[in-house]
Amino acid sequence: MKILVINCGSSSLKYQLFNMDTEEVMVKGLVERIGIEGSRLVQKNNGDEFVIEEAMQDHTQAVGHVFDALIDSENGVIGSLDEIDAVGHRFVHGGEKMTKSALINDEVKEAINDAAKFAPLHNPANMMGLKACEELLPNVPNVAVFDTAFHQTMPEKTYLYGIDYKYYEQEGIRKYGFHGTSHNYITNRAAELLNKDINETNIISAHLGNGSSITAVKEGKSFDTTMGLTPLEGLVMGTRSGDLDPAVVTYIEEKDGVSPGEMNNILNKKSGVLGISGVSSDFRDLEEAAKEGNDRAQYALDIFTTRVKRYIAGYMAEIENTDAIVFTGGIGENSIELRKEIMTGFEQFGIKIDDEANNVRGDEHVISAEDSKVKVMVIATDEELMIARDTQNLVK
Ligand code: ADP
Repeated sequence: MKILVINCGSSSLKYQLFNMDTEEVMVKGLVERIGIEGSRLVQKNNGDEFVIEEAMQDHTQAVGHVFDALIDSENGVIGSLDEIDAVGHRFVHGGEKMTKSALINDEVKEAINDAAKFAPLHNPANMMGLKACEELLPNVPNVAVFDTAFHQTMPEKTYLYGIDYKYYEQEGIRKYGFHGTSHNYITNRAAELLNKDINETNIISAHLGNGSSITAVKEGKSFDTTMGLTPLEGLVMGTRSGDLDPAVVTYIEEKDGVSPGEMNNILNKKSGVLGISGVSSDFRDLEEAAKEGNDRAQYALDIFTTRVKRYIAGYMAEIENTDAIVFTGGIGENSIELRKEIMTGFEQFGIKIDDEANNVRGDEHVISAEDSKVKVMVIATDEELMIARDTQNLVK
């Protein structure tokens, strides 16, 4: 079975074609600047690059070019579009209705549109990819996989906010959590590596990348997570503030006459380690600047690691028995120094990193010492494969 995975942003589109017999990626690509001058598709196949530079006014045209690239006689990987058995789409917000991945039908579309009030940029963009596939491949089933779905197992005590209950009842304001596809993949893979039944697996999944979130997984299910109603809550991220006294928001809005929309932009795009350091949202740049003596870059790194520590320790208490702490995402998989810094202080709980074992990037490794009370691991996440698997299971 061949499955196409599509992840649509407002002006970009990432895709991967999977051969599910082997779970191999046959080809992957990226379209950028959709609807903007300079639209460009780059498809990668074992180091070979195939580029299409043509105007792409909208997502339907972009998807059309993706199909052209997939069946291109020289650079394509399939003979015809009939070989695509299903398309899996990443959707950011599924609200409370979408508790798992789903075959697209009118009800699912309605749930996606309802949840768009909390993901006004993402859900409509994701929907454009779906519409394009429905139009261009009318006989191929589409599946929606939601970033929020894995977290729908959270109990009230972790998803409700400390505000008037009416906001939950009337508006659905609560913690939803994101990166669910990644935390789900990590949970499955960790259970396999730990050789445990997934329903008995308790882990802390730390997805640390440009966007970062940590999930407490109890008995294979999400029990608590750092992101909230939107991806803004929790850890300090590349450009997002993370947790904040809500009074900071109203103070700045009143003092500087900032509108809610502008405030949203400040908190999502101009805050986090970028805002603190004034240097970059990229952790490699920050580590370099800090080494050269830039104080603000060092503060940004310290604030990041402190908050990661705080959540890991708190979540361990929440899930009671922790089998493993797992690092994933660009930073979690690659930053030897930050992993070491985050785990410093956990020795008092009998959790120890083995410096030599920690001296690795990517892939799958145990980085804790033999006698560590809890295993600490690095697992490279694979959200696209998770989407492809869910899609296969639903269309089979
Ligand atoms: P996204 O959330 O966009 O998927 P990624 O998971 O790819 O992001 O993570 C990107 C982050 O990972 C960047 O801040 C980058 O600096 C960081 N990163 C990648 N490689 C390293 C490394 N070797 N050391 C430190 N940070 C790294």
